[in-house]
Amino acid sequence: MSPTIAVIGGGLAGITAAIALAESGADVTLLEARPRLGGATCSFNRDGLIVDTGQHVFLGCCSAYRGLLAKLGMTEHAPLQRRFDVTVLAPGAGGQPRRARLRRTALPGPLHMLPALGRYPFLSRAERVSVSRPALAMRRVDPADPAVDQQRFGDWLAARGQSERARRALWDLFSVSALNIAGDDASLALAATVVKTGLLGQNNAADIGVAALPLGELHGDAGATLLAKLGAQVCLATKVSAVEPGDGGFVIRLAQGGEMTADAVVLAVPHEKAAPLMPPGALPEETVAGWAGLGASPIVNVHVIYDRPVMDPPFVAAIDSPVQWVFDRTRISGLSASNHGASNHGASNHGASNHGRPGHQYLAISLSAADDYADVPAARLREQFVPALAELFPAARQAQVTEFFVTRERRATFRQAPGSGALRPKPATRRPGLVLAGAWTDTGWPDTMEGAVRSGLAAAVELRRTVLTASTIGERQ
Ligand SMILES: Cc1cc2nc3c(=O)[nH]c(=O)nc-3n(C[C@H](O)[C@H](O)[C@H](O)COP(=O)(O)OP(=O)(O)OC[C@H]3O[C@@H](n4cnc5c(N)ncnc54)[C@H](O)[C@@H]3O)c2cc1C
Repeated sequence: MSPTIAVIGGGLAGITAAIALAESGADVTLLEARPRLGGATCSFNRDGLIVDTGQHVFLGCCSAYRGLLAKLGMTEHAPLQRRFDVTVLAPGAGGQPRRARLRRTALPGPLHMLPALGRYPFLSRAERVSVSRPALAMRRVDPADPAVDQQRFGDWLAARGQSERARRALWDLFSVSALNIAGDDASLALAATVVKTGLLGQNNAADIGVAALPLGELHGDAGATLLAKLGAQVCLATKVSAVEPGDGGFVIRLAQGGEMTADAVVLAVPHEKAAPLMPPGALPEETVAGWAGLGASPIVNVHVIYDRPVMDPPFVAAIDSPVQWVFDRTRISGLSASNHGASNHGASNHGASNHGRPGHQYLAISLSAADDYADVPAARLREQFVPALAELFPAARQAQVTEFFVTRERRATFRQAPGSGALRPKPATRRPGLVLAGAWTDTGWPDTMEGAVRSGLAAAVELRRTVLTASTIGERQ
């Protein structure tokens, strides 16, 4: 008999754990509260337009996440840039936006970024020269050192000669979106993971990947298909209300009534949902109570559809503007289904081709660390962001906005502030057979897709070690 394993939570962490455990021969049941898999990476249909609630990107260094994409058969639908290449815009005098291009060379890291940084026009010459100081000092920062996790990234940068301008116009560009917290306020440990991997690692580590399919299809639908193929059972719209120790295993109570038993459990839900589901004694009470200290940080996406193209690159970053990053979602959403000859992979499944509006362009502004926007009515965001886009894209000044809407993820990530590292648990608990997963757990990575996948793999490794017997491993491979 294969051990029975319940995976609770069908985000990337749960999907990954369920796949890995099913591949190892376990009898896996995945329980997900919502009517779909994918967790925070999800899409919805808005009158035929396929919308991701939050624009996601990944980097070349996200090896675990890319491994999951490969397993799901989705690599070709999540292309990486050939070389890191980001256009940075700022409003300019006389209505002409200022423009920079941060593009890496083929040189090995960290030399690959030096030419672009040396030309970066939004910093003074002295500020450009000073950038190498923290970049090199970062080599000696150990993200695993608890003392490092107590420091603010902004203080550390300032102590290494980074002016307010350099922090806002350069470091924030990447740290705010990677860590979803105002740059100065981020944990130095998590910032160090990002900088060391992305800037000081291999020269292709920071190359940016953007999905060419809606996330719901890329992760949720593809995950469900693979899990079915592996013989795992997926129960959607199935919220777990309690996990209790049972006869040599666990009893899992369902919110809608009923229960199931399992030999082992992967609890792959966000920290605020995990705490009440922890059986007594599985971890010290103060540890579980401490998870609340991880808090939450919002991400808001502002979606704007124009009656004509206004932005050329697939995405741009902005400084000196409320706009942070803007993505062209015309093709992915199915908006241009009829005029661009797009692959339409997603559109056809969701009926998005009905939404085809030749010549229109759909931009999504992704706002990280969006505490100031999370509760602002859409009409007020429109008053702020439509003019802000017009400052960056002159073509938008003549264009009509045909649709404007806002998606808000108030608990997009935990608050990746100093001290958060100490609150993140390892996968193993004191109760054999119960393991934790989720991007919020102690992966060493920020709360990202890569972190989620790593946590799912770590949970599976722990259960392979403790629950799955040698004879079951590989049975189904
Ligand atoms: C708007 C937004 C933008 C982002 N941008 C990026 C980005 O660009 N790059 C990047 O790498 N990361 C990004 N992230 C972060 C990334 O999405 C997350 O780190 C990752 O998806 C978390 O995965 P997870 O499986 O740990 O958790 P989740 O995705 O939260 O999955 C947990 C699942 O558990 C389910 N659940 C909860 N309670 C129960 C219960 N009682 N019973 C059953 N099921 C339950 C939930 O419904 C959910 O599906 C972004 C997140 C958001 C919200």
